Amino acid sequence: MIIDGKGLADIMAESLKEKVKELKNKGITPGLVVILVGDDTASQVYVRNKERRATDAGFLSTVERLPSSTSEAALLALIEKYNQDTRYHGILVQLPVPKHINADKVLLAIRPEKDVDGFHPMNVGLLNVGNPLMIPSTPAGIMEMFKAYGVDLAGKEAVVIGRSNIVGKPIAQLMLAENATVTITHSRTQNLAEVARRADILVVAIGRGHFVTKEFVKEGAVVIDVGMNRDENGKLIGDVKFDEVQQVASLITPVPKGVGPMTIAMLMEQTYEGAKRSASQS
Ligand code: NAP
Repeated sequence: MIIDGKGLADIMAESLKEKVKELKNKGITPGLVVILVGDDTASQVYVRNKERRATDAGFLSTVERLPSSTSEAALLALIEKYNQDTRYHGILVQLPVPKHINADKVLLAIRPEKDVDGFHPMNVGLLNVGNPLMIPSTPAGIMEMFKAYGVDLAGKEAVVIGRSNIVGKPIAQLMLAENATVTITHSRTQNLAEVARRADILVVAIGRGHFVTKEFVKEGAVVIDVGMNRDENGKLIGDVKFDEVQQVASLITPVPKGVGPMTIAMLMEQTYEGAKRSASQS
């Protein structure tokens, strides 16, 4: 069976609109600012999508488009402005930033309670100690798909391919919190296909088109493909060879219309939750 990430994200978007209306009735409008530095083509597409989704949800939605020559100090000052602005509950700096800007400094500058991407070290720490505040959207979206499709993780063997801070490490933490037995693999892992074949749940986030073939997948496994790559014709493809892996997996996400739409849906959900929290604190 194919996991319909797009369909699930659409359902979430509809229910979010209703929740936002209710919050607005209490005088609070969730606010999200996305900051884009430079003119990276892929980033421009991601930012446009986020802007559209936030507007559709009824948020106060702002995009700050800055030239690639923007100094680190100017970017940090802009972040601080939005840290102070109580109309905004989410601040997101689209990565990557130009090389002359230190991305770690940028992530540290965002107030953890407004860090809707969940990349601030404090949010990473809170996730690791099992008390999460803001969770990175892609892994959060994967967990939502498990819930929607009745995938129970307790006691299962879960294997993650990729150890990035954005996907691999946080999804491992989240699955561990749901009592899966988790193995994280990476480019130095020996006998990767053999390790992957142990998985009841296989999450792939490496950034190499069609890398995972059916030799990596146990019969009946759940396969989540995070990868977004372009093939030689410019077509969007995942890290998993969908056509052949589909034959062995019990559940699998497609690319596109799998993990991608859920990532944006979770970003909106977290901004809304941030707004709700700020309301209960004021
Ligand atoms: P990343 O930061 O580049 O990390 C890639 C990871 O894959 C690294 O840990 C690397 O291992 C590992 N890796 C690379 N080649 C490998 C190999 N041959 N065998 C085993 N492991 C290998 O990537 P990322 O940010 O996690 O993104 C991964 C993919 O997901 C990309 O295609 C990205 O575009 C996509 N993505 C999609 C979404 C979405 O919303 N759908 C969100 C985020 C990312 P080492 O650590 O040893 O180098």
